Amino acid sequence: MSDNCLFCRIARREIPATVVAEDEHLMAFRDVSPQAPVHVLVIPKAHVASLDDVREFSIVGRMAEMAASVARQEGIAERGYRVVMNTNADGGQTVFHLHLHLLGGRSLDWPPG
Ligand code: AMP
Repeated sequence: MSDNCLFCRIARREIPATVVAEDEHLMAFRDVSPQAPVHVLVIPKAHVASLDDVREFSIVGRMAEMAASVARQEGIAERGYRVVMNTNADGGQTVFHLHLHLLGGRSLDWPPG
């Protein structure tokens, strides 16, 4: 845990978020600035800055499993969706607590900008 980390504070429920799924290790909540009709972030409750800092990769599998579950819950699984982990500066990461973006509910362009 990191005292001033935004997503640690959301995980501790010190900052409000619209939580759509949660278990012992993970939390999924709606992005405050959605880029698609469904835009959910999946985070580990324990602080890890980025994918580049992960040392125990089973957590990433758990995050993917929760994303797939939320996609079904949100009704976007059949039409399709995208999961993204922006990593460090060139990846466009702005919040340095590991998170997976789940985006769907519209057709998504490729390649990204
Ligand atoms: P990234 O650019 O990959 O680091 O993504 C960070 C994401 O966190 C952005 O999509 C933001 O809109 C989102 N975000 C920032 N603050 C909050 C918040 N308080 N609650 C929910 N999402 C947030």
